Amino acid sequence: MAIIYELQRAFREGKDTLAYAELKRRVGVRDSGNFNYHLQRLVGQYVRKTDVGYALTYAGRKVASALTAGIFTEQADGTTVLASGTCYNCHAESLTARYERERICIACDDCDEEILHNPFPPAPTTRREDLLFAFDAWTRRWNALASAGTCPECGSRMDGKLTDSNSALSVGDVPYRLHVTCRECWAMSNLPLGLLVRDHPQVVGLHTARDVDIGSTPSWDIDWALHRDYLAVVSDDPLTLQLRIPLDDEELQLTFDDEGTVVSTEITH
Ligand SMILES: [Zn+2]
Ligand SMILES: [Zn+2]
Repeated sequence: MAIIYELQRAFREGKDTLAYAELKRRVGVRDSGNFNYHLQRLVGQYVRKTDVGYALTYAGRKVASALTAGIFTEQADGTTVLASGTCYNCHAESLTARYERERICIACDDCDEEILHNPFPPAPTTRREDLLFAFDAWTRRWNALASAGTCPECGSRMDGKLTDSNSALSVGDVPYRLHVTCRECWAMSNLPLGLLVRDHPQVVGLHTARDVDIGSTPSWDIDWALHRDYLAVVSDDPLTLQLRIPLDDEELQLTFDDEGTVVSTEITH
């Protein structure tokens, strides 16, 4: 691991390749046999050997990021901060975010409803003042990639299918979610459809026309995205759902097919 750390540090200094002697000096191992043994185990998948030295491969950089993301786990566990917004269940302004077992969970202190939770790396948890801003950006990017059929963890194909199962991975209080699974790695989730259309042009347009800045509203503070009152079954076979987004005297209705794709939209007054 010291080899990967030192190659990452060099990369950050602008040297994407280190000569053998320089890498060995930085790692600080005197015993050449021991150093060579560990280096050779990394060469190929994690470290690329070139004419002038050694560099991290894509997998090596991902491992370096994962090691960086994973530090300070113990300090982060149990961290609690206040979250902005209201509970979709009891409408109290009493949301808190708790970091536990490498997830951030936004829950209501008044009614105990779990509003939203998602995995989040421990390292920024104790290091960032704007932790919840980072968490929301992270969650939104994850959801956007997943709903675009691309695994946010490994870049492979992701498949999505509506499901009515309510597993531990589920978020919000909705009867159906989009179950996304990666064809190659561990990544999977059950995502409320509303969270997947918050950047849809018509959704943004409706809010912008009413001077509501939906772009900077955190995901856990969008009732229509997370509560069952706004999602209705239009047809069972094939499964078709409709999401209502009311704003003042207007309502945007989005219709989804069984793969979670928006197939039609309508605005009513
Ligand atoms: Zn509540
Ligand atoms: Zn994957």
